[in-house]
Amino acid sequence: QYTAEDVTLAEEVAQRAALALDNARLYQEARDAIALRDQFLSIAAHELKTPLTVLLGNAQAMERRARRDEQLPERELRAVHLIHEQARRLSRMIAALLDISRLEQGKLSIERGRFDLQALVRRVVDEVQPGLTAHTVEYLASDEPIIVEGDELRLEQVLQNLIGNAVKYSVQGGVVQVQVARQADRAYMSVTDHGMGIPAEDIPHLFERYYRASNIHGDQITGMGIGLYIVKEIVTLHGGSVDVASELGTGSTFTVYLPLRHNTDETMQQGGGVDTPSSNP
Ligand code: ADP
Repeated sequence: QYTAEDVTLAEEVAQRAALALDNARLYQEARDAIALRDQFLSIAAHELKTPLTVLLGNAQAMERRARRDEQLPERELRAVHLIHEQARRLSRMIAALLDISRLEQGKLSIERGRFDLQALVRRVVDEVQPGLTAHTVEYLASDEPIIVEGDELRLEQVLQNLIGNAVKYSVQGGVVQVQVARQADRAYMSVTDHGMGIPAEDIPHLFERYYRASNIHGDQITGMGIGLYIVKEIVTLHGGSVDVASELGTGSTFTVYLPLRHNTDETMQQGGGVDTPSSNP
């Protein structure tokens, strides 16, 4: 025997169950859409990479030839330089998108090897300086090697990214200082600029995907907000950390800390002891 009250209760329960089912379905749909987006990102970046590599290679060769050609009007030389520069930029953006999609799938791995961090920093500074007109990159270090264990190419990417940002966000030009040193049981490399700085409230979010600080307005300085996210993930894969100190209107210092390679004979394992990045950081 059921009363009218029981019916009301049964209806209420049924309504809640229906709502829960609806929510579960919507949640599943949202997850499917995210997976599809990630898949699209990965396919698009892969597909774009091949023609872009050809374009970049040829633009580079063209610029080299153009620079040797003394008959070539200055205007043409500038145009070839611009094509090369923008192809490089596109290629960096595609590489970042590929890294994002690898990270999302937990597939960004590092190849471990032993190398001198100090030599790497010096080489990167020497390589970036000729491409800069308004900035001077200063290199501060002692001559003593600083041996770390990690992925040299990936750490080079980290440093290039930080120097790139230091240059990009100090629009007036000026000095960018790059320092590498050892501190207790770790090594660090830091990049300091005297540019626009970062508002304090944005600092905790800087390493999040697609995050850009609130003092960047519109298209004033272009960017996708993924460079620092990738930096942090790479450094974390090395068992290190990254830190930022900044003052609005004065400048910023980004510091990467890495564990030092201990002097033991243990065999190096590729990717050993490394956490895979979480799929949804
Ligand atoms: P992007 O530069 O493409 O926007 P990043 O992930 O490299 O992306 O940086 C995230 C944000 O952090 C930037 O949009 C900018 O607001 C801020 N930022 C990074 N480096 C600096 C810097 N050296 N000076 C000032 N702001 C910076």
